[in-house]
Amino acid sequence: MAEKINLEVITPEKLVLREVVDEVIVPGLEGELGILPNHTPLISQLKTGVLSYKSGNDKVQMHVSGGFVEVLSDRVSVLSDVAERTEEIDLERAQRARERAEKRLTSSGGEDVDFRRAELKLQRALIRIQLANSN
Ligand code: ATP
Repeated sequence: MAEKINLEVITPEKLVLREVVDEVIVPGLEGELGILPNHTPLISQLKTGVLSYKSGNDKVQMHVSGGFVEVLSDRVSVLSDVAERTEEIDLERAQRARERAEKRLTSSGGEDVDFRRAELKLQRALIRIQLANSN
């Protein structure tokens, strides 16, 4: 029986995190997915949201957006399009990204506005702002 979880968070650019933890919560497409050691193996898609994990008394939160999580009894591997630890988030940059995305979404449109892309940018900016402000 596994007692701990080997957590890895990887983006196309880099290994963001590798840590031995007690519990992980990921933003699954269908809702939050809480994972303890010895969880049933599964693969789930991720949405833009907060990944959190507990290690002893430490609770850590990070932003992830898109990609997949693979769960094994002693391992959780997150492969995400972007991932940032809370302390890496640049709040002003996220606020600017939010303003740009909101302008695009409320503009009258035209063929050059990609609404899905603007919606995704807005969701990412909102999660970044939420995490940076909770720090
Ligand atoms: P921006 O327009 O400010 O670049 P974006 O939504 O286009 O934001 P993403 O495509 O989500 O950015 O991410 C591109 C890269 O920049 C990723 O590596 C991501 O981690 C990083 N990044 C984006 N915004 C921030 C931020 N506010 N703080 C820290 N890193 C960020």
